[in-house]
Amino acid sequence: MGYLSDRREIEFFLWELFRIDQTILGQKPFHNVARVDCEALLDRARAHAQRLSDVNRAGDRDPATLMDDGTVRVPQGFADLWSEHRRDWSWLPFQGESILANDVGERFPHMVLQMVGEMFAGANPSFMTYGGFTTAAFNLIRARGTEGQKELFCGPLRSIRWDACFCATEAEAGSDLSAIKTEAEAIEEDAYAITGEKKYITAGYHELTENTVYLVLGRIKGAKKSSLSMSCFIVPRYLYDSAGTRIDNNVRCKKVEDKMGLRGCANTHLTFGASGTTRGFLLGNRPNVALLQLAMLMRRARIGTGAIALAASSSAYLHSLEYARARIQGALFDKNADPSAERVAIIRHLDVQRMLLEMRSKVEGCRSILGRISWHSSIMSILTSAGADQALAERHARLALLLSPIAKAYISDEAWKVVTLAMQIHGAVGYLADKPLEQYLRDIKILTIWEGTNYIQAQDLVRDKLGFGQALVMKDLEKEIFSFLETATDFPNLAFEFDALGKAFSSVQSVLEFIGEQASRGDLLLISQFCTRFLEMFGEVLAGWGVLQAASIAAKKLEGEVTPEDRSFYSGKLKTARFFMHNIIPNVAAKAGIIRDPDKSYVAIASEEFGYHA
Ligand SMILES: Cc1cc2nc3c(=O)[nH]c(=O)nc-3n(C[C@H](O)[C@H](O)[C@H](O)COP(=O)(O)OP(=O)(O)OC[C@H]3O[C@@H](n4cnc5c(N)ncnc54)[C@H](O)[C@@H]3O)c2cc1C
Repeated sequence: MGYLSDRREIEFFLWELFRIDQTILGQKPFHNVARVDCEALLDRARAHAQRLSDVNRAGDRDPATLMDDGTVRVPQGFADLWSEHRRDWSWLPFQGESILANDVGERFPHMVLQMVGEMFAGANPSFMTYGGFTTAAFNLIRARGTEGQKELFCGPLRSIRWDACFCATEAEAGSDLSAIKTEAEAIEEDAYAITGEKKYITAGYHELTENTVYLVLGRIKGAKKSSLSMSCFIVPRYLYDSAGTRIDNNVRCKKVEDKMGLRGCANTHLTFGASGTTRGFLLGNRPNVALLQLAMLMRRARIGTGAIALAASSSAYLHSLEYARARIQGALFDKNADPSAERVAIIRHLDVQRMLLEMRSKVEGCRSILGRISWHSSIMSILTSAGADQALAERHARLALLLSPIAKAYISDEAWKVVTLAMQIHGAVGYLADKPLEQYLRDIKILTIWEGTNYIQAQDLVRDKLGFGQALVMKDLEKEIFSFLETATDFPNLAFEFDALGKAFSSVQSVLEFIGEQASRGDLLLISQFCTRFLEMFGEVLAGWGVLQAASIAAKKLEGEVTPEDRSFYSGKLKTARFFMHNIIPNVAAKAGIIRDPDKSYVAIASEEFGYHA
């Protein structure tokens, strides 16, 4: 029923695909951590994921509720789990992040954290939203806050006595944050009186912590209405006087939304300043720069969204595998006419294999996209720690940044398709509440919408990250992909697959050139119809790169002595890559063709022409 993860796959990811023991461990700031420490951590994480998973369904069936006294009741079991999680795991996201120094104690590389994060997010995504912005808020205030703000907030956030939420959305301001109406009026120095309402705030009101810190997007009274006039305010739910007495800061929860999924997470409609003054502190005492200040926080949230999506799709794949091995149904297609033919497990039907291979290749491809971001982040940490080649560190930073909208949008879109396939494989059983798949589907749909809808990610990729093809980072990526493609001669059995990946990457490059031509002609509106497809193409190439890299490692292993179990594991990797290159990668060229189609009638349609006469 619960969350499933694949131990062998995690081992492969860390020690064979990214070879972190050779490329990362042993180097500062990861010098205090050995492989055995990582393995021990992952074992503990697996056990904790089981605990989280045990309460996942209960959270769905007993959703967070607004009580008559204005407090929010979280699902039963969440409070105990919170104490446990805080006691045993709250140090992990902060490792190496003391308030005073930046490099203390053991520090695990990002890939290891990625695997722990995947397990926790997959085991109980609703629970994991509580305090989900705490580390980010700590880092933000430590980096951008005034000395007074650091003193006030960093300690309690670091110890998780307080948690944090991100408050941007309002009724009229969703994708268009420039429409926000929340206002701030100066009281003294960096303190402002905040008035406004924020909608859909994740885990926005609860009693799990002593206090909650809201990072609120608003405008200082009198500021012009533009995206360049937004400021970020640190707004605590409670203030404390000099004697340490708690003072209500007039943040109220007006409603807990009744929603499709993540029902254990309190999705709150908050009011600020409606029942008395709400004091907020202008981050860094710097007005109008909220979007710049928050860029890092939003990037982390997007990668985190990809991680939740991956976790659910991976578990859904493993459930499907178990089910398909056990469920007996029908004879093979070519024996249908023979009543005495053996009834087989559905895993032997080729259409079921098609679905399983699509799921597996996408799960592993998506994991590799997140892995690449983690890898660039770890290498950046190593280079920065050594005070080495700044230009190289910046190159890794650019690449990680480029991949973040793709990780958010491509992985969340594919997760929906993967879990749908899982349901299809389960037949009627998958549709029932007895199986976790219907909850997975309900839980993950939001991932294509929040943290900027997937279109907003695609727009960010094409315009901001790639500068309509002008950005340097595409050259960085080209170098990385080409150096992999050059190894093709070592793998004659994968010649078709390497060739297919090379051609698909060329399609991405040529579409980007085409977009650049439209941009130089000033036809920006036309480009907006391509953004989503372009991001999909890009995601497919990156995922394909990951599965092919895995296959090439597997091919080398198969040349030597391996156990029978590993022989199956590695040959499965080869077949997964073959499937992806024959069945998914051709979509890249098809999409390129559609984008290059000179007929613009696809979007040249007026609202009335859509029809509908009630
Ligand atoms: C469960 C849940 C949790 C959330 N958590 C938080 C939170 O913690 N903090 C927070 O601040 N917000 C949160 N949100 C809000 C979420 O971030 C917004 O819903 C999201 O940004 C989209 O805004 P919207 O719903 O207003 O959609 P809209 O902006 O109205 O978009 C509707 C559709 O129009 C498209 N669209 C919009 N503008 C354009 C454009 N310019 N060009 C092309 N297409 C466009 C969109 O892509 C989308 O398909 C949460 C929402 C939910 C449901």
